[in-house]
Amino acid sequence: MRIAVLLKDRCKPKRCALECIKFCPRVRAGDETIIKGEDGKPVISEELCVGCGICINKCPFDAIKIIGLAEELKEDLVHQFGKNEFRLFRLPIPKKGTCIGILGQNGIGKTTAIKILSGQVTPNLGKYEEKSSWDAVLEYYSGTELFEHFKGIADNKISCVLKPQYVDRLPKIIKGEIRDVLKKADNSGNFDAIVEKLGIEGVLDKEIEKGTISGGELQLVSIAASLIKDVDLYFFDEPTSYLDIFQRLKVARIIRELSQEKKVIVVEHDLAVLDFLCDNVHIMYGTEGAYGVVTFPRSVRHSINTYLSGYLKEENLRFAEKIEFFAHPPKQRQEMNILISYDNLTKAFKEFTLEVERGIIRQGEIIGIVGPNAIGKTTFVKMLAGVTKPTEGAIDFDLKISYKPQYISPEYEGSVREFFEKTSQELFTSSFLKAEVYEPMHLKYLLDRQLDTLSGGELQRVAIASCLVKEADIFLIDEPSAYLDSEQRMLVSRMLRRVVEKSGKSAMVVDHDVYFIDMVSDALVVFDGESGKNGRARGPYSLHEGMNRFLKDVDITFRRDEDTHRPRVNKTDSYMDRQQKQNGEYYYRM
Ligand code: ADP
Ligand code: ADP
Ligand code: SF4
Repeated sequence: MRIAVLLKDRCKPKRCALECIKFCPRVRAGDETIIKGEDGKPVISEELCVGCGICINKCPFDAIKIIGLAEELKEDLVHQFGKNEFRLFRLPIPKKGTCIGILGQNGIGKTTAIKILSGQVTPNLGKYEEKSSWDAVLEYYSGTELFEHFKGIADNKISCVLKPQYVDRLPKIIKGEIRDVLKKADNSGNFDAIVEKLGIEGVLDKEIEKGTISGGELQLVSIAASLIKDVDLYFFDEPTSYLDIFQRLKVARIIRELSQEKKVIVVEHDLAVLDFLCDNVHIMYGTEGAYGVVTFPRSVRHSINTYLSGYLKEENLRFAEKIEFFAHPPKQRQEMNILISYDNLTKAFKEFTLEVERGIIRQGEIIGIVGPNAIGKTTFVKMLAGVTKPTEGAIDFDLKISYKPQYISPEYEGSVREFFEKTSQELFTSSFLKAEVYEPMHLKYLLDRQLDTLSGGELQRVAIASCLVKEADIFLIDEPSAYLDSEQRMLVSRMLRRVVEKSGKSAMVVDHDVYFIDMVSDALVVFDGESGKNGRARGPYSLHEGMNRFLKDVDITFRRDEDTHRPRVNKTDSYMDRQQKQNGEYYYRM
């Protein structure tokens, strides 16, 4: 079957000559394969289109997708938003006793699938011109595993709760003291137990809208607001963004435990956490904005390996490029020029003290920064940037630093193009930046979008690019992985390495995704201490030594997957876990 999709936010008929219509050979032959719609945008007839692909190439904005799909998918269309709009094929199947994951790139229908399973959207089975009905849905699913589920949804007998993806938007939507918000949501009577499990006693008195709650705290509160509800089906859309690794593992254990009693579906892009958390995973493939297909569930290890391979063996389908998890050869740090060195710095706030041991940062290297939240990572970075003065010790270097903060908000009113024109013209004029930043971040497609309409992942790409484009000696990038899908994380890590290597600049990257840190870092600064009270920074160490020290603090061990060489968390107390701990090998050898 062939589908024709118009990416409406890219299509700008006022700025083109409607080349799609003009050059379509079927239109030239006299039929109405593409006509101008009421909004001035093209409407493509899938019945008349012969799939020559001319319109795809002629469109100056890459707004048209004509895609050939396997014939058997025809029967599996669950939902289509409208003519020439996004289509979702098949659905994940919730199951009690197994924690189900969904793994796929951004924009291919994960949220749509969740909304359908939770009953927020009634699927139209492709009949977008008619009003959708649960009767039609039940008839379609009769005799299948999903029948009982949709029957329960249609009869209001199955209740669901969704932990939303963008927790940083919550202060705009929910008001009041966190204790009251959670108490109101509590229909399980588990308020005390959940607050204790998640360790959020300290934030209960805070008011959400006041802006004093960190992203990590908002994430935990949002997870608590879901757990506190006694429902049949729980959805967690990216439950780990802004959480440190201790919190990620804690949340993973809690969600896993819940899945033994209830149906649970999780969307997660931190592959180490997904691996640790889920039993079975549905890979989703497709084309962003055009279509998405949910595949049958595979064991989590098999799913992640398949996802990285980009090839679905059973379907004989290549859906993405293979992502190789190769260990980049460690750089010989001693041979690189020193950019800065610092010696025993202390910063004391009223309730928090940070001690930084002696360290050296070299030109052309990326230092990964790992450690719990509220341990002084930002304070450290700010001291290096000269924004904050140390209480003891001196910073006697004068470096230009370009900083991407952890929380990014579209503060600029206007389009992405205007934003870059105003702040970083070089993106358009420098051939280096064009090739190494603009292209790999796919910024072309975002330029005409208003900044405040970008999704979390799109905004993140703009923020990372904006940081790299600025004139600086060192880039400080705080949690670049938030809201990026796994593939984009790999692209960003590759891009950062190229920019740093080719420009001879240095970068410090704070992140909690172990895969990302593994891919991006040449060396590691490791933070430990007690969150919110005192912190200590040590290093930079080699990646292996740093990871070893860090994971020892976290008390988990990683091995390498035999097939893909990706890191995998060992089960606590498994043979490998005990063996590696005994040998002091928390992180596998390169
Ligand atoms: P994901 O969760 O995988 O990022 P979504 O389910 O949010 O993806 O969206 C998939 C695609 O569906 C989007 O790229 C968008 O083009 C389309 N889409 C989502 N919601 C709507 C809607 N209400 N109307 C039309 N298209 C939509
Ligand atoms: P991280 O980046 O590791 O999450 P931060 O460096 O942001 O940690 O903060 C470490 C601790 O220092 C936190 O408990 C925070 O509340 C405190 N802190 C940070 N900046 C200030 C400040 N200007 N005044 C008082 N306390 C601060
Ligand atoms: Fe016309 Fe279809 Fe060819 Fe596009 S792909 S130019 S719509 S025939």
